[in-house]
Amino acid sequence: MNIHEYQAKEILQSFGIQVPRGHVSLTSRQVERTARELGGRCVVKAQIYAGGRGKAGGVRLVNSPEEALEAGKSLFGKVLVTPQTGPKGLVVRRLLVEEAVEIEREFYLSITLDRNSSRYCIIASAEGGMDIEELAVNAPEKILTLTIDPFTGLRPFQARKLALRLGLEGELCEDCVKLMLNLYRCSLEKDCSLVEINPLVVTRAGWLLAMDAKISFDDNAIYRHLDYPAMIDCSQIDPLEITAGAFELSYIKLMGNIGCMVNGAGLAMATLDMLKEYGGEPANFLDVGGGANKERVAEAFKIILQDPDVRGIFVNIFGGIMRCDVIAQGIIEAASDVGCPLPIVVRMDGTKVEVGRKLLLESGLNVQYADYLGDGVEKIVKMLQ
Ligand code: ADP
Ligand code: MG
Repeated sequence: MNIHEYQAKEILQSFGIQVPRGHVSLTSRQVERTARELGGRCVVKAQIYAGGRGKAGGVRLVNSPEEALEAGKSLFGKVLVTPQTGPKGLVVRRLLVEEAVEIEREFYLSITLDRNSSRYCIIASAEGGMDIEELAVNAPEKILTLTIDPFTGLRPFQARKLALRLGLEGELCEDCVKLMLNLYRCSLEKDCSLVEINPLVVTRAGWLLAMDAKISFDDNAIYRHLDYPAMIDCSQIDPLEITAGAFELSYIKLMGNIGCMVNGAGLAMATLDMLKEYGGEPANFLDVGGGANKERVAEAFKIILQDPDVRGIFVNIFGGIMRCDVIAQGIIEAASDVGCPLPIVVRMDGTKVEVGRKLLLESGLNVQYADYLGDGVEKIVKMLQ
C-alpha cells in the first residue's frame, strides 16, 4: 500500500525526523493561502503515487502567493506521466505546498526489504536527488547498502560508519546517525516495505531535512494498523484494483492484451513467464486464490472483462482445493451476466476437471480447451496475433 509524500512526511516527523514546513492543499485558493503563510517563496509539489515528479514538471518553485495560485491552477487535474506512472500517468488531486529550502547537498537514504536475506537493509548514497536511477545503473559502487540484523537492530556504530562514508562529519554525522535509527524504528513500527528519503538534504543553514518522502506499507500488515485504510487515495489507484480488493481478489494491471485468470501467485508467475516466452503480452493477472466460490470467480471474470486492453482471456487453474466445476460455473455466470465477446482459452486440471470441461464446452461461449499449459499459451497467443 502506498501513501502520498505529505502523509509520509507526517509519519517521519512523528519519528523525530525533520521535514520542511508545509501543508497539503485541495484547491488553488488553499495553495495561495499556504504560500502566503510561508512568506511567498515556496515549492508546490504534485501528490501522486509515483516518483520522478520533478522532471515531469510536478514540482514548481514559486516566488509569491500569486505565482503559487497559478501553479495550483495549472497542476490540479493535470495528468503527470513519469517513468514510474506508466504511459497513462496519474492525475493530480492534491498539492503539497512547502517552504523552499536552500540546499547545500542532496543524499539518498532508504530502508527496504532485502528479499534475498529476508531482512531490512539500509541503502544510502552521497549522490542523491533526481538521478538516483541512473546512478544505480552507471555507478552502482556509489550506492552503499547495509543489511540489518533483526535481533540486534540497526546499531549506532553501523549508522555512524555509513554516515561517515556519506562524507558527513561532526554534529551533522551524529544527527544523521539519529535520523537513521529513527528511520529504522519507523520501518519496524509502521510495518513498511519501503521508507525512502530522496533527497535527504543538508541545508545551507546546516540542518538535515527530509525533502522528499516515500513510504509503502506491507499489505499483509495492514490489519495491524486501523488508521491505514483511511489513508488510501482512491484517485491514484486503478478502479478495477479497488473492486478486486473488495472481493479479496488480487488483480495486477499490466501492459499487454491477454487477461489472465489464475489461482495462486506461483501459478500466476509461471503463466506470465510462459505467455512472454511464446511472444504474448499479459494485460493483467487476477489471482482468485485457493478456495473461491462461484460468485467470486464470476466477479473475477467480470473484472478482467472490464479491462479495456483485454482482447482475449486465458484461464489457467489447478484445482486442488479449488474445484474446476466451480470455476466453470463462475465463468459461465459472469459471461451470461455481462456478455463475453472475447475468445477464451481454458487450461484446467485437478478436482472435478471433467465436469468443468463439459460445462464450458456446452456453454455456448467462445471457449477453446487446452490439454496442458504450453498448449493453452500457444492457443491464446496465436489467436491474438
Ligand atoms: P521527485 O522525487 O518525485 O522528483 P522531489 O520531492 O524529490 O520529487 O523533488 C524533486 C527535486 O525538487 C528535489 O530533488 C529538490 O532538488 C527539489 N525540491 C523538492 N522540494 C523542495 C523544497 N521544499 N525546497 C527546495 N527544493 C525542493
Ligand atoms: Mg525525490
